[in-house]
Formats: sequence, C-alpha cells, structure tokens
Amino acid sequence: MAGQTTERDAAFVAAWLTASADAVRAEADRLTELDSAIGDADHGNNMRRGFTAVVASLENEPQTAPGGVLLLAGRTLVSTVGGASGPLFGTLLRRAGKALGEAERVTDAELKEALGTGVDAVAQLGGAALGDKTMLDALLPAVDALPDYAAAARAAEAGSQATIPLRAHKGRASYLGERSVGHEDPGAASAALLLGALFQVSR
Ligand code: ADP
Ligand code: MG
Repeated sequence: MAGQTTERDAAFVAAWLTASADAVRAEADRLTELDSAIGDADHGNNMRRGFTAVVASLENEPQTAPGGVLLLAGRTLVSTVGGASGPLFGTLLRRAGKALGEAERVTDAELKEALGTGVDAVAQLGGAALGDKTMLDALLPAVDALPDYAAAARAAEAGSQATIPLRAHKGRASYLGERSVGHEDPGAASAALLLGALFQVSR
C-alpha cells in the first residue's frame, strides 16, 4: 500500500487516465449491455468516445501538473460525451483538478482529498446519494478507502455489485421503477473500472 506521503506527478495521473481508457475500451460492450437493461444502451460508447478523446487531448496539450491533467480530462469528457455520464465524470475530474491547483507533485493524501471534492460535486450536480443506484455507489466507498489503492478498487467493485438489488432513484434507470431491480448500474461499473486502473498504475 502506498503511504500518505507518496508523491505523484502529472505523468502518474496521465497514466491513470490512459489505463482507464484501455479498460473502458476493453469493457465497452459489457457497459453498453448493462445500459441496455436499464437505460438506452449508449454507456459503453459514451465512455469509449470520452476517454479516447481524453487520451488525445493529453497528447496534444501535455500538462506539467496533476491538477492540470485532471482539469483537461474533465473538460474533454464534458465536451465529448452527450449522455449524463459525461458531465458527471467530467465534473469529478475537473473539480478534483481544481482542488489540486498547479502543484507539480501531490501526495496520495492530497489526491484522496481532491477526488473526494470531485465526488461531492458529482453528488451535488446529479442530486444523488449513496443507495440511489448510480456511479456514486462505487465512487463514495472508493474515496473513503483511499489512499489504499487496492482497497479503493475493491470497494468500487463491491459498490457496483451492490447496486444490483437496488431500485434506481436517479437518471434514466429511475424511469423503470421496480424494473430497475436486478441489474448492475452501468455508471457504477465504469467507476469501478476507473478505480481498478488507478490501482494498476499505483503499483
Ligand atoms: P444517459 O443516462 O444519459 O444515457 P449514460 O448511459 O452514459 O448516460 O450514463 C448512465 C449512468 O450515469 C448511470 O448508470 C448512472 O451511474 C449515472 N447517472 C445518471 N444520472 C445520475 C445522477 N443524477 N447522479 C449520479 N449518477 C448518475
Ligand atoms: Mg445511457
């Protein structure tokens, strides 16, 4: 496990987002399948388009600060993804980036705090809370488990699995009411992929 004082640079955060893009591409069909059960079957495509654009934007505009990488990635997601997930994941990354500012190195404790600020902004923007069967069911326990990256990845995956018996109270899936029960939330599944990628690059 990384210590609270381990320092991370822009390359670390860029590697996280690149690994996230790889994971999203590998799992895009599964994400779309999940969204076809309780949504409109576009989540895999939304995430793939968004994260492919994130990798391209980081190549075109190299950043020197972890905060700058997150800001650029967040802006790119907001501007390239039409679905609800774009503004929500985009807000998470943008707000985390803003919280880190221009420091060229940040500790794991600072990264945890910044991601916590980003997740809070997602809750505010979408009006959802834990148990509403959204990406927050994976994100909130994951941020709690940081800066232990392995525990955070496990918490996100467990949080996503825990959405299966829940009834959706926010987003498109909430239109289904009781019929949303019995399916994993696609946005929570994506959040688990992002946390898995973070663990992978932290090792
Ligand atoms: P859309 O619902 O517009 O088609 P996506 O399919 O890309 O967008 O993303 C759906 C995911 O977005 C859901 O599975 C859920 O995790 C997340 N989501 C939707 N609405 C909210 C909300 N209000 N708060 C948090 N997450 C939400
Ligand atoms: Mg959808």
